[in-house]
Amino acid sequence: MSIKLSPIVILSSLLYIFVASCKKQSTLPPTATGEGVDSSQIEVTNDVDKQVISSYENWRFGKKAYLHTKNILDFGSRSIESEGHKKTQAYITAQLQKYGWSVSRQSFKTNTPYGERSFVNLIARKKDGRKSPNIVLAAHYDSKLMDGFLGADDAASCVGALLEIAEHLPKQDKEIADQIELVFFDGEEALTPNIEFMKDGLFGSIYYSQYMRNDVAGAKKTYLQTPTFGILLDMIGHRNLSIKIPSDTPSSLLLSYLSVIEKHELLDRFGVADGSILDDHYPMNKIADLPTMDLIGNFSAKNWWHTKKDNLENISENSLNVSIQVALEIMKDQLAPTKPKY
Ligand SMILES: [Zn+2]
Repeated sequence: MSIKLSPIVILSSLLYIFVASCKKQSTLPPTATGEGVDSSQIEVTNDVDKQVISSYENWRFGKKAYLHTKNILDFGSRSIESEGHKKTQAYITAQLQKYGWSVSRQSFKTNTPYGERSFVNLIARKKDGRKSPNIVLAAHYDSKLMDGFLGADDAASCVGALLEIAEHLPKQDKEIADQIELVFFDGEEALTPNIEFMKDGLFGSIYYSQYMRNDVAGAKKTYLQTPTFGILLDMIGHRNLSIKIPSDTPSSLLLSYLSVIEKHELLDRFGVADGSILDDHYPMNKIADLPTMDLIGNFSAKNWWHTKKDNLENISENSLNVSIQVALEIMKDQLAPTKPKY
């Protein structure tokens, strides 16, 4: 007796083997050691030259994101409860309102290694959008508490990218924009050197995920159901762009990602890391049960990560251009009606 495998079964099996072979390290906080990184694959010396991969027209991708990044960096450090942190909140809120989004502040206090601290996630939906969002697009707006640290790509540039999407997408693709919830997480950065799940760092995404889980299951119904998928942006705008998403990315999103980067010949810039990564997508997957991918720079291979060198000089409009379009293409691929569900 022979067993016939459908293309879907074969593809699923291949994907399983691919993911399983990548999964060499457990969930660990990001470290600067470069452990497990093949340096021959990451040293890209030229800036990205791809200009337009998306079908959206009259949108100069990356331009506004770069300007927003610059404006945010002018506020100085965005470490929690700082002056720059408050100014960034006000800036994000004002921009979103200008583009027709209603913004809510999700304020909370929680214990940290340095006692109880206050945090604010900013959450935006289109004023005339869906009652319950279908897609979550997120980035963190706080910066790590370190002397002279600005966090240009970690993650002011990603806030800039979300603001650019907030401005342009409703004009280009109202149907998709109406399904989106934009989330600007507070407290992603650990107060001690490394993120430790449920102890230090990811404060905003943990609170957001717990709130969503309780809400879907409970009576408040800010969310009528869990959104279908999420995309987190983190470190997507650096020069000599190199992106490596976690190996345990939910399979449907991983398939969309691989299909987009292959189609647009971006394999030299976009890859898959050897292991999982502890970032704001983690609580979204584990607590909110919301399949979320982390479009994240190959931080462990970058000598500027968590140093003063992560300043405006580190940011490239070309990199933002490509990363924003890849995020949009993944989103469109996820929403395609013919897409097989796994
Ligand atoms: Zn960081």
